[in-house]
Amino acid sequence: MGEAGRGRVAFFDFFPVPDNIAGYVWDFPTQVKGTPMRCWGVYDTNLLADRKRPALKEPLAEEMKRHGFDLNDYEIKGHPIRWYSPRNKASVPRVLLVGDAVGADGIFGEGISMALGYGAVAAQEIAESFRRGEFSFRGYKRRVARSGVGQTLFVRWFITRVIYFFKWRWFHILLWRVLKPIVLAAAWVFVLNWSKRIP
Ligand SMILES: Cc1cc2nc3c(=O)[nH]c(=O)nc-3n(C[C@H](O)[C@H](O)[C@H](O)COP(=O)(O)OP(=O)(O)OC[C@H]3O[C@@H](n4cnc5c(N)ncnc54)[C@H](O)[C@@H]3O)c2cc1C
Repeated sequence: MGEAGRGRVAFFDFFPVPDNIAGYVWDFPTQVKGTPMRCWGVYDTNLLADRKRPALKEPLAEEMKRHGFDLNDYEIKGHPIRWYSPRNKASVPRVLLVGDAVGADGIFGEGISMALGYGAVAAQEIAESFRRGEFSFRGYKRRVARSGVGQTLFVRWFITRVIYFFKWRWFHILLWRVLKPIVLAAAWVFVLNWSKRIP
């Protein structure tokens, strides 16, 4: 859809959380064939899916309406995402998993950089398996857990479970608006920049 004066800013709004949609509505700048456009969507971790809640598209329609758009005028697409948990399987003998197959970030559903990070760790595991001539990949999960990508995914898995279970409106206003400088500083140290820690 057209830019509607929101410039190059990407918006995340966590207002659906108190209604048991444990995620956010997004409004991102994008380009279609070189023309600046906006991409809207709603992300849900499904952490609160067993509780009473509106249809997923309702908060999206509500937010779009606030900005003068009617969701019915646009095509809707749905995509599943698999987020990381330390319990997820990472390999079986002779098979390694990477990217979403192991799991992406639960907080935002970010997984492109992680997929690349997994690739680097998997390459190391495969190289070492060739050196040893043994392909059980038994140590792979530990290797992922010790890597920069594994550490950030673990921290993000923990944060996901905290921020989406504390679903009060005041908590999310406090977290994302009032405490924004502190959240950004903590994110900078503990969540972002993990690629610099690739072994
Ligand atoms: C709507 C949406 C928005 C997102 N936005 C962001 C974002 O802004 N930033 C971000 O970092 N992440 C985002 N993500 C997550 C990100 O897209 C994924 O985490 C990332 O693409 C995972 O990469 P991957 O290589 O593991 O898997 P994929 O990108 O899913 O690649 C897997 C590939 O395998 C192919 N495939 C599947 N089965 C077979 C088969 N049997 N044989 C051969 N090929 C097969 C598929 O067609 C696909 O091309 C978003 C996800 C969604 C759904």
